[in-house]
Amino acid sequence: METFLNSIHGRYASDKKTILGLCMNKYSYALSDLARELGTSIPKITRIVTEMVNEGYLVEVGKLESASGRRPSLYGLNPDAGFFVGVDVNKDFLIVSVTNFPGRQVALVDNIPYTLESTESSVKGLCKVVLEAVRKEKIDPSRVRGYGVNLTGRVNRRTGYSYSYYIGEEKPIAQLLEEGFGQKVIVENDSRAMAYGEYMAGVAGNADTFLFLNVGWGLGMGMVIDGKLFYGKSGFSGEVGHFPLLDNNRVCQCGKMGCLETGASGSALHRIVLEKLSSGRSSILSSAYRKGEEISLDSILEAVEKEDVLAIECVEEIGSVLGRAVAGLINIFNPDLVVIGGRLSSTERYLMPPLRSAVNRLSLNLVNSDTQIKVSSLGKSAGAVGASFLSKSRLLSELS
Ligand SMILES: [Zn+2]
Repeated sequence: METFLNSIHGRYASDKKTILGLCMNKYSYALSDLARELGTSIPKITRIVTEMVNEGYLVEVGKLESASGRRPSLYGLNPDAGFFVGVDVNKDFLIVSVTNFPGRQVALVDNIPYTLESTESSVKGLCKVVLEAVRKEKIDPSRVRGYGVNLTGRVNRRTGYSYSYYIGEEKPIAQLLEEGFGQKVIVENDSRAMAYGEYMAGVAGNADTFLFLNVGWGLGMGMVIDGKLFYGKSGFSGEVGHFPLLDNNRVCQCGKMGCLETGASGSALHRIVLEKLSSGRSSILSSAYRKGEEISLDSILEAVEKEDVLAIECVEEIGSVLGRAVAGLINIFNPDLVVIGGRLSSTERYLMPPLRSAVNRLSLNLVNSDTQIKVSSLGKSAGAVGASFLSKSRLLSELS
């Protein structure tokens, strides 16, 4: 596999990598600044930058204003020199986001039908589907410098193993994906990637310490602490859905009892709505329920949008339980910000008031007065956006 870094060779390879790393962090440089950063002479930097312009990595992005009247050129990344692809793997569809070299989103493709299974052919199939989507967006896959792929559940980013997909095989899933894409791949937990998306391009840009709650079918959390994603020893941090907080005697999908997820998640909402329908409560879902049709989480979220009172009541119930958990998290982390994201964030109007009320009631005032609570601004695309930026950050760490 010829990775992007291997493709930079020749006499000045190491200086070129340093210059790319500098330009990925900062918009533009004059030759004199680059010479100072690299501790080298202006003639040598001029030679290297000229080569990099000819090779398509850098472009002149403007002129520096100067008092002397001479206006030296400023150089920055050529936006078309490289792309990073983020893939969010959902139960039966993929979302793909493409970010260019300087970090601007150039494509977002939602709802690509695909169901990932734990087989080698399914993982390779995913690569094909993603590459096709990238080509359709008129992006040449040979210019993609890295991929980030989000998977639900426990993922060890360092070893590349997922504990939900392709389990127990000798090769980690990250290696299979690299073979399929022909480039470096990072696998990441979906909630953590969503948190990173909000941090790099969403609602959390100015927060140094923040918590992202992914309220989907389950409940996950991504944490940025002191400006860095927090992983824990094996990368499994953030399993807040399995916090044994509730005294409800309910068995969680993890096999334990009273996990937070059994009262504050999409699956909890689904269960509560069905319980109320079976007890005879009226709703716009009643007739479908009586006919024995399947009531999906999506149909419940649609009912909320149509202002169905029963569905709204159930969302409020979830908001109140979630708020209790957020109060506890605020007391522990004293974060700048808590972001509520995931599928249930579409019910913001009804989810947030009881959530905020529980936080006000239950968290320590001195601690919570420093913390803002916001709803995700990237919505469904947070994970794919985050994955593309994680891939960019990986390359950046290898360049510096
Ligand atoms: Zn659990």
